[in-house]
Amino acid sequence: MDEFDFVIIGAGSAGCVLADKLTATGKYSVLLLEAGPNDNRFWINMPIGYGITYTDASINWNYFCEPQKTLGGRSMYWPRGKVLGGSSSINALVYHRGQAMDYDDWAAAGNTGWGYQDIRSVYEGLEDISSPTNNNRRPGLDNLGKSEKLRLSITDAFEDYHSIKTELDGIFSQSGLPYRETPPLEGEGLGPYFITTRKGKRCSSATAFLHPAIKRSHLKVLPSTTVEKIVIKDQRAKAVQCRQHGLEHMFVARREVILCAGAINSPKLLQLSGIGPGELLYQYNIPVLVDQPNVGRHLQDHLGISYYYRANRPTLNDVLGNWPGRIRSGMQYLLRRTGPLSLSVNQFGGLARSSPTSSKIDTQLYFNPVSYQPNAGNERKLTQPDPYSGFMMGFNACRPTSTGWVNITSPDPEVAPHMSGGYLSTQKDLDDVVAMARLLGRIQDTEGLTNLLLEPPQLDLSTMTDADLIRDFQQRATTVYHPCCTCRMGPKPDRGVVDAELRVHGIEALRVVDASVFPNITSANTNAPTLMVAHRAAQMILATANRKP
Ligand SMILES: Cc1cc2nc3c(=O)[nH]c(=O)nc-3n(C[C@H](O)[C@H](O)[C@H](O)COP(=O)(O)OP(=O)(O)OC[C@H]3O[C@@H](n4cnc5c(N)ncnc54)[C@H](O)[C@@H]3O)c2cc1C
Repeated sequence: MDEFDFVIIGAGSAGCVLADKLTATGKYSVLLLEAGPNDNRFWINMPIGYGITYTDASINWNYFCEPQKTLGGRSMYWPRGKVLGGSSSINALVYHRGQAMDYDDWAAAGNTGWGYQDIRSVYEGLEDISSPTNNNRRPGLDNLGKSEKLRLSITDAFEDYHSIKTELDGIFSQSGLPYRETPPLEGEGLGPYFITTRKGKRCSSATAFLHPAIKRSHLKVLPSTTVEKIVIKDQRAKAVQCRQHGLEHMFVARREVILCAGAINSPKLLQLSGIGPGELLYQYNIPVLVDQPNVGRHLQDHLGISYYYRANRPTLNDVLGNWPGRIRSGMQYLLRRTGPLSLSVNQFGGLARSSPTSSKIDTQLYFNPVSYQPNAGNERKLTQPDPYSGFMMGFNACRPTSTGWVNITSPDPEVAPHMSGGYLSTQKDLDDVVAMARLLGRIQDTEGLTNLLLEPPQLDLSTMTDADLIRDFQQRATTVYHPCCTCRMGPKPDRGVVDAELRVHGIEALRVVDASVFPNITSANTNAPTLMVAHRAAQMILATANRKP
């Protein structure tokens, strides 16, 4: 039995940040436990490799959600990273903070200190923004600079993005949408997406925060070690029970256990440890330590759709879809770390209003200079683009109101929990689908977009009825891989699982720090907010520890 000041469960986006920050002063010992293996793999390091890691069961939990009645009974594939870096090692690299209102709503729900003005400086402290070709192109962002503190590398890859970019200003301005050639970091605006890369390689949370810290003598990292239960005595988290290569181990936390297992596995582990909906736990003979119905509830996710277009000029399909193109890009990547393999396929987009009269920024848009057919089960065709020049545009609602859940189905930690997105279960979410499809219709109808097309769009969105737009969405929409809120923050136990300092209500020395604590989903991609939450949590944890010698 080993003892540490802090035991962190899960080396994902959040866990890697905490491992760095809690060991930076050298005062505290930390154990970081990760179910998955080391992340030193070619397909993780090479940015576009996420098309391969998407299904790789050796580094992915490969979950499926329950069949969704509102989506024609479809059960969707929900990949989650199971490797150092967690989902930041397999994600699509887009970096976006969302909008100020997301965080102001966190604060308005009673979570003091989480409004945008409170957390903005936390973002600025973690971001290291660079442009590979011209650092001075965006003078406003240069002052973020570098420091000796570890930061996340965020790249403005505009120069390297597909040449279709020259048409976008025209297309979006004809649609009445704000477009700039500088990537949007937050709020309303379309442009090239920022991506989390460093010199052409993926910059996961492990790359940015864990690897530079890994040699610290008071940090111990155990990959391939699955936590099965948090051991709680007298309503205080004391230790964790875990399994490594078939053998059981127990590790004691002198100060705190910090749960960073992500939006699916954090509620699962709390439920297995006796913190969850009483009725559910009784069903599996798990002694109820805190009857907490919010554990595993309020799940939110972005549900998106893509529309397909045949282009009258070469797109990435013409590069990635044949061997000569792949070999050329491979050489370009190996020699210079540039080209399509050093990028995400999500190259352009951002946040917008579905109509000029919308009172809120409600839509996230994607414009990808590649087209590949939708997932069948857990297959992703990103590596097999359509055999013609094509591109995709897509959208998802920023702030869907439908909610889902995560529930254990067995006391056996090996068994995957059941999960549901509860998608499209509110009228607002259905209305949003129509409004966003109408926006795409207006973009489709611009002269700028028409000039790019070899043939008319497959779907004439402007003439389809509302019912047809919804039916098409129900048949084809997929998760954008952003489940969150399953252990949400709330000032009282009847509202949330953790308080504003991310301490589990009713249990001492136990915090949850990951995407599961979001009080509501943020408007854009969820990696940035998760990293921010972890940085802020580290400040809180260290403040508590420094007060109690
Ligand atoms: C395919 C895909 C594409 C995405 N694209 C983007 C994108 O482009 N931009 C963006 O911002 N976001 C994207 N996301 C979402 C984003 O990556 C996540 O929201 C974020 O990484 C969540 O961080 P986390 O710390 O909450 O969880 P994770 O990063 O998933 O970390 C949880 C960690 O805990 C470990 N763990 C779980 N259970 C146990 C256990 N019992 N014992 C030990 N360890 C355990 C897991 O293996 C994992 O390493 C994407 C996600 C996926 C899956």
